[in-house]
Amino acid sequence: MPLDASRTVRELEELRELTGDENGAQRVAWTETWETARGWLRETVASTGATETVDAAGNQWFTLPGRSERAVLIGGHIDSVPNGGWLDGCLNVLGGVEVLRRVAEKGEPPVTIRLVNWADEEGARFGRSLFGSSAAAGSMADHDELRALRDADGISLPDALAEHGVELDRTLEARSELDSAAAYLELHIEQGPVLESLDLPLGVVLGTFGVERHRITWRGQAAHAGSTPMAQRRDALAGAAKLALEIREIAARTGDGAVCTSGGVVCRPGIVTSVVETAEQLLDQRHLDAGKLAAMLEQAEEASRRFAAEENIEVEFEKIWSIEPILFDETLLGFCEDSVREVSGTAHRLPSGPLHDAAEVSRAGVPTVMLFVQSLRGLSHTRLEDTKPEHLELAVAALDRLASKTIAWIADGG
Ligand SMILES: [Zn+2]
Repeated sequence: MPLDASRTVRELEELRELTGDENGAQRVAWTETWETARGWLRETVASTGATETVDAAGNQWFTLPGRSERAVLIGGHIDSVPNGGWLDGCLNVLGGVEVLRRVAEKGEPPVTIRLVNWADEEGARFGRSLFGSSAAAGSMADHDELRALRDADGISLPDALAEHGVELDRTLEARSELDSAAAYLELHIEQGPVLESLDLPLGVVLGTFGVERHRITWRGQAAHAGSTPMAQRRDALAGAAKLALEIREIAARTGDGAVCTSGGVVCRPGIVTSVVETAEQLLDQRHLDAGKLAAMLEQAEEASRRFAAEENIEVEFEKIWSIEPILFDETLLGFCEDSVREVSGTAHRLPSGPLHDAAEVSRAGVPTVMLFVQSLRGLSHTRLEDTKPEHLELAVAALDRLASKTIAWIADGG
């Protein structure tokens, strides 16, 4: 079958009908609807002749054997958040199905082609994102924490996994899946407003941002709102408030896409008649450059110490989580740029703010690249998520070209 990108759009609509409702997509991982989507994918892929296997972490693989065992991987995730959109994750998978069809039609490919539907990218039910890909990448190191996770109904993660044939203690066995991987390609909606603002359908993704997440505790003194003169207060909220504004300056000074977010502040005692004694603030900082990310964190810490001194309060930083920036493979970036230019005229390079399965695969040492397609209004994780059908078709055409170039490169010993 020659490539028919409009078929991908029809299949996305079919999947939406099958697994969504009036509030959006409901393919939350480790649920019946998710299993329905996986079954539907199995039937959809069947005509390509690719063989299905499910690994120890629940990742669903479709393999089209080639003359060489070295494999070009195309990945995505069919799981969604509750009330999610019709494209996040499944566009990647269905674009990959179309590439499989086109490759299968030409007979045995020179290298093996594998489509992977990663299990639980979103972490929507248990709060742990990139589940399947981190197992395959070997970076999953939080089994003790995973064992303790429960969903909103009190069901534990290991019990939910077992219902779908996955044993938590064996998930790292999925690592062997990447042994033969020579390259990894992922198409995704941008989930941000950059491509739309540039009026471009597609973008080449340089890598995923490094992230530094901290909990900052400001400590002052609770005191009566009526009897404590302004000059004698030790107001913990004042430190948090100053920092919430300062991070805008830090991001602006750093530039190159730097983002800093103070996503929450909890004040105690939190009553109208008291000065705030403690303010617990959440800070998320992201950058594609590890040095600049470290400098942003340092500037936030330095500013915090200054604000603490000014306000006569104390401040303490505690790391919640961090990940280093992941830069994609130079050769694949070149192929991606050529593919995007061929189908849409202009190839713009941009970083990814959100994390993706591709980051895990890249960390595992597999040459990786991602391709973005414009998101209308930058929205995702909502039923309002959308992309113009003609842009979806361009994205599938670009993914196919990227796959062709990558297959030729690997076949050539790349
Ligand atoms: Zn996604």
